[in-house]
Amino acid sequence: MRNSRKLEWLYQCFEGILLALHPFWLWIGYARIEKPVRAVERTVKSVMFDCRMCGSCVLSETGMSCPMNCPKELRNGPCGGVRSDGFCEVEPQMRCVWVDAWEGSQRMRDQTRIAQVQPPLAQGQRGSSSWLREVRKKRDLRFFQ
Ligand code: SF4
Repeated sequence: MRNSRKLEWLYQCFEGILLALHPFWLWIGYARIEKPVRAVERTVKSVMFDCRMCGSCVLSETGMSCPMNCPKELRNGPCGGVRSDGFCEVEPQMRCVWVDAWEGSQRMRDQTRIAQVQPPLAQGQRGSSSWLREVRKKRDLRFFQ
C-alpha cells in the first residue's frame, strides 16, 4: 500500500491501453480472449495484490488493498473486530486489509473513492477477468453517452 499512488497511475495507464485495444478485442472476440487474459491477470495480480480473482476488481477504491483477502470477504469496510494494533480478529497474524486500504487510499490522488459503497459481489463472476469486464463496461458507457 506504500506504493498505492504509483500503482494507481500504472493501473490507469494500463486501463487506457486495454480500452484503446477494444476494437482489437472485438475483432478477436471477447469470449476467445477471456482465457489468456484471465491467466495473465491471475498471475500478475496474485503476485502484486494476492488477488483472489473475484471478477469484479475494486482495488482502485480500496487503496490497492484487495478486500477479498479479508477472511470475511468484506467489501465495504472493516468489521467491528479489528484489534487495537490493526490486526485481524480471525487471523491475528494478519493486518486488517481495511487498515491497509485506508492507509493506501490516503496516498492516492482521489482519496474519496474509498467511501464508495460497493454492491454485493456477483458470485457467478468469480474466476473471470475483471480487466475485460471493466473494458466492456466502460466502452458500453461511452457508447451510450
Ligand atoms: S478485488 Fe477481486 S479482482 Fe481485485 S485484486 Fe481482489 S480478488 Fe482480485
